[in-house]
Amino acid sequence: MRQHYDVIVLGVGGVGSAALYHLAVRGLRVLGLEQFSIGHNRGSSHGETRAIRKAYFEHPSYVPLLERAYANWRELERQSQSTESLLVEQGILEIGPADGMLVQGVLQASRQHQLALEQVSEGEFAERFPGFVLPADSVALYEPAGGYLHVERCVQTYAELAVQHGAQLVTGQPVTSWQLHSQGVLISTGEMEYSADRLVVTAGAWASELLRDLEVPLQVLRKHLHWYQVDPGAYAQSSGSPVFFYERPQGCYYGFPSLPGDVGTAPKATSKSFSSKPPAAISAQPACIKVAEHTGGEVLHDPAQVSDALEPEEVGRVERFLSECLPDVKLRSLAHAVCMYTMSPDGHFIIDRHPLSEAVVFAAGLSGHGFKFASVLGEVLADLATTGQTALPIDFLGLARFQK
Ligand SMILES: Cc1cc2nc3c(=O)[nH]c(=O)nc-3n(C[C@H](O)[C@H](O)[C@H](O)COP(=O)(O)OP(=O)(O)OC[C@H]3O[C@@H](n4cnc5c(N)ncnc54)[C@H](O)[C@@H]3O)c2cc1C
Repeated sequence: MRQHYDVIVLGVGGVGSAALYHLAVRGLRVLGLEQFSIGHNRGSSHGETRAIRKAYFEHPSYVPLLERAYANWRELERQSQSTESLLVEQGILEIGPADGMLVQGVLQASRQHQLALEQVSEGEFAERFPGFVLPADSVALYEPAGGYLHVERCVQTYAELAVQHGAQLVTGQPVTSWQLHSQGVLISTGEMEYSADRLVVTAGAWASELLRDLEVPLQVLRKHLHWYQVDPGAYAQSSGSPVFFYERPQGCYYGFPSLPGDVGTAPKATSKSFSSKPPAAISAQPACIKVAEHTGGEVLHDPAQVSDALEPEEVGRVERFLSECLPDVKLRSLAHAVCMYTMSPDGHFIIDRHPLSEAVVFAAGLSGHGFKFASVLGEVLADLATTGQTALPIDFLGLARFQK
């Protein structure tokens, strides 16, 4: 007999794990369906860390959502009762031309929302941020509330707590189709059929096919993460080195201080069972930083076929950036990982109810900057799935902007 749920969450990655949790704590009968394992490294939510910041250069309208996201991450830490933090407010250093999109956007968001932000003078820069270069004609801004999230642990923790609150989780079963049905929504995995009053689609790079009726093109990009060796202490977490983001003429680059004992990501996860253990880190490595190019990326037509090969031109761009802006980094790669951005046409998220039925809600096109919001987007989706609306300010992220 087919099992019926109040809500099914399709895709239990960054946003889906948070949605599953927010639905489960409301006492709903909820099922999460994930094609791989929880915390796997074949989608968009792996690679050790994700940056989080409030003075949002992408658009000031995200700031109220970020305030809520920070509160929700802290609440998750409290609920998990773990001694290890998920969110580390180590500060973020943002550097770019005075009239560039980064500096102008950060200043605008911080003014509009009265966020703490420091402009670092040339005189104090070298002493405060050893190892970093402030290029000529660039401005340095420091946001103390910036920092990073332990990405796999966030996903694992949300999924684990959702299960503790009664959610069911099925991994290793790709959903092959969903359709509207007299009982709400019928979902098929090939092996099984499930039905639910409501469906939440959080499929990341796989959203195009599952949400084709939206008629909004989503472009998947293959992106790289690199871990490079540094001298012990330089840029390392213990020295208080911040997360950094540079806007340069050749593109945007960002990175993270090394985390003790962690370099790189786990081997590909294929287990069908739900494991409460975070993916194993490659340990006993020398001190390192993680660095990546935010711009660029190779278009992928099938996310399932993503290759983990290095792209020599991209490596060249990253190493040129390091030579110019973080010259103490040894150009000796310790590890490399591949991940996917799912770009919406305007680079902003798409969060809404499905145009064919209010029984289906979704988050898609997170455009390479969505993880920090997972904790609030999970709440938004739980609101939309259960009441059809949310008090959180998401109107600017709706489908209507593509239907003018
Ligand atoms: C290299 C890189 C660096 C990034 N840096 C940052 C950063 O610093 N800060 C930040 O905020 N964001 C960052 N992002 C973006 C952020 O990580 C993503 O926006 C976010 O993780 C996307 O979450 P998601 O839930 O949409 O996708 P995912 O976490 O990939 O989840 C989607 C899930 O759906 C599952 N799924 C898909 N189809 C099916 C199906 N048919 N059946 C069952 N399951 C299915 C997938 O297996 C997957 O687990 C970065 C992204 C990358 C790639």
